[in-house]
Amino acid sequence: MGQPVVTVAANLRCPHGGPAILASPPRVLAGGSPVLTIVPPLPVGGCPLGGQTAGGGETGKRYVFKVAVPCQRLVFPAGTRRVLSGGVPLLVLGATGIAVPSSTPVVAAVPGQLRVLAD
Ligand SMILES: [Zn+2]
Repeated sequence: MGQPVVTVAANLRCPHGGPAILASPPRVLAGGSPVLTIVPPLPVGGCPLGGQTAGGGETGKRYVFKVAVPCQRLVFPAGTRRVLSGGVPLLVLGATGIAVPSSTPVVAAVPGQLRVLAD
């Protein structure tokens, strides 16, 4: 059973709301929009964590600051097994990945289209 393939219309975001950017449009369209493949990782633009200080505290005489690092990429380790685009698996609805470098889990929760399924 296949899952809906994720397209650029899904408007994927990092866990903090930063939009993912499609670096190079793939050749395959679904519902009129290019499908997303799991390679290369999706660049993230404008993660709101950038430059903010998430928290700080004092340990003895040393001040410890945790500086939040903005997400740079969304990495999805697995995609479709049978359907490939340029030899690369497609991203499908429900795929789980991580935001790099924060290692925050991210889910492809919105496919952007529902007509094209792939396994
Ligand atoms: Zn982020």
